[in-house]
Amino acid sequence: MDANPAVDESVIQAEVLVLGGGPGGYTAAFRAADLGKQVVLIERYSALGGVCLNVGCIPSKSLLHVAQIVHEVNEFEQHGLSYGKPNFDIDKIRSWKESVTKSLVDGLARLVKQRKVILIQGTGHFTSANTVEVQTETGVTTVSFEQAIIAAGSHPTKIPVFPNDDPRLWDSTDALELKEIPKKLLIVGGGIIGLEMATVYHALGSEISVVELMDQIIPGCDNDLVTPLYRRIKKQYKNIWLETRITSIAADKKGLKVSFDRAGSQPADGIHTIPGDKGKGAPESELFDAVLVAVGRRPNGKLIGAELAGVNVDELGFIAVDKQQRTNVPHIFAIGDIVGNPMLAHKATHEGKVAAEVAAGHKAGFDALTIPSVAYTDPEVTWMGLTENQAKQQGVDYDKAVFPWAASGRSLSLGRKEGLTKILCEKETGRILGAGMVGPNAGELIAEAVLALEMGADAEDIGLTVHAHPMLSETFAFAAEMITGSITDLYIKK
Ligand code: NAD
Repeated sequence: MDANPAVDESVIQAEVLVLGGGPGGYTAAFRAADLGKQVVLIERYSALGGVCLNVGCIPSKSLLHVAQIVHEVNEFEQHGLSYGKPNFDIDKIRSWKESVTKSLVDGLARLVKQRKVILIQGTGHFTSANTVEVQTETGVTTVSFEQAIIAAGSHPTKIPVFPNDDPRLWDSTDALELKEIPKKLLIVGGGIIGLEMATVYHALGSEISVVELMDQIIPGCDNDLVTPLYRRIKKQYKNIWLETRITSIAADKKGLKVSFDRAGSQPADGIHTIPGDKGKGAPESELFDAVLVAVGRRPNGKLIGAELAGVNVDELGFIAVDKQQRTNVPHIFAIGDIVGNPMLAHKATHEGKVAAEVAAGHKAGFDALTIPSVAYTDPEVTWMGLTENQAKQQGVDYDKAVFPWAASGRSLSLGRKEGLTKILCEKETGRILGAGMVGPNAGELIAEAVLALEMGADAEDIGLTVHAHPMLSETFAFAAEMITGSITDLYIKK
C-alpha cells in the first residue's frame, strides 16, 4: 500500500479522519468521500481490509472451501465416485488463499484512488480532540481533523499464563498462515473461529480435539441448531470436551503439554448431548503438536490514545456510542468491534455507513433489527433475530416450526440429510421473530430470513412467496407453511 505521493505527510488536514482500514473503516471512508467529504484513512498495515480480509473471514473461507471439496469427495466414495486419497500441496493451497486476499486488497487500493481518499500507512494515536499522530515508517505525521471515525477493531484474547511466545501455540492468524499441518491439534474454544479452523485442519489430516468451557459448542446459538453439527464432528474429531477448562499449557520438547480440569468435564444430562452419550472426560494432561486458542476477541479501545481526545473507553476497551455512532465527544464516531458485540464485519460496514452519513450532515441511524450470525462449519450453522432461548427467557409467546432437510430433495441430492430450518413467529400475529438453519450452505439462506424480519413479514407472507424448486431456500418457506398449517411436503397430524 503506497501512501499518496502527492501529499506532504508533515501536515495533513482532514474533514473526516478514519482510524482503521478494516471493513468498517474503509466503508466509512468511502461513504464519506462519496458524500463529498475530504477523507484521510489511517491503517497500520500495508494492506487495507483489516482482520476480515487479511487474517480472518476471507482466508478462512478460502481454506474452508478446500475442506468442503475434501469432505464431499470423501463422502461420495460410498455413492460410487472416488478419486483416491487426496494429495495436499500446502504451499500451493497457501498461495491460492493468498491470491484471493490479494485480489480483494488490490481492489480496495483502486477504490481508495478512485475516491481520492488520502491513505496513510502507520499507527495512529489521538493526541487531542482534533489531532491524531501517525507513526509511519519514515517518521511521525500529524493529522488534524474536523470529525473522526474510530474503526480500530479488536485482537484475539490471549490467556496470560499460556506460553504465548511458543510457535506451537496459535491464535487465529497463526492458524490461517497454514505453515504446517500438526498431527495432533487442540482447539481451545468451541466457538465460531475454533470450529471453523477445526474444519480446515481436520480436512487436511490433523487429529482434532476441542475443549470448550460451556455445555455446548457455539454457546450463543440454540442447541437444536447446533446438534447436527455436534453429532457430525463428534464422529470426525478425536475429542470434544465440553464443560472443561485448561489449567496449564507447558512447552515440552515433544509438544505442548496441556492439563485439563476434569471436574466439570462430564456434560450434564441435557439437550446438548447425543442421547446416550454422557461425554467422555478429558485426560489429566495430554501432549499436542499445536494448540489454537480461540476464546474470543478484545476491542482495541485502549490502544489508540482515546483518552487524549476525551473519548470514554470502558474497562474492557469498548467505546460506547449512540444510534448515530457518536461517542461522548460529538464530532468523534466509533464503529465495528470497538463499539461492542457481535464482532462481525457486516455489522461494522453498516455502522460505518451510518457514521459517514451523519458526519456528512445526513439524517441516519443504526436501527438494524438483527445482525445475522453464520458459522462456516460443515454443516454451516446460522441464526438471526430472537433465538428460542431468548424467547423463553423473555417470556415471548411464540409459535415454532422446524423443517427437516431430510424432506428436502435438494439436500438429499447433496448426499446430506441432517439439516434443519427453524422459524419462530409471534403467536398472535404470525410475524417472524427469529430463524435459524443448519445444513450445507445454510449460511446463504439467512439473508431471506433477515429481510423477512426487517420487512415485518409473517409466516403467511413467507409461505406464499414462490421459492424456486429444488432449492435449500425452499426449506424456509416450508417452515413458514408448518406455522400456517398449509404444508404439503410433510404430514403433520392435526
Ligand atoms: P467466540 O466468542 O465465538 O467463541 C469463543 C468460545 O471459547 C466460546 O464458546 C467460549 O465459551 C469458549 N471459551 C472461552 N474461554 C475458554 C477457555 N478458557 N477454555 C475453553 N473454552 C473457552 O469467539 P471466537 O470464536 O474466538 O471469535 C471471536 C469473534 O470473531 C466473535 O465475535 C465471532 O463472532 C467473530 N468471528 C465470526 C466469524 C463468522 O462470522 N463466521 C468467524 C470468525 C470470527
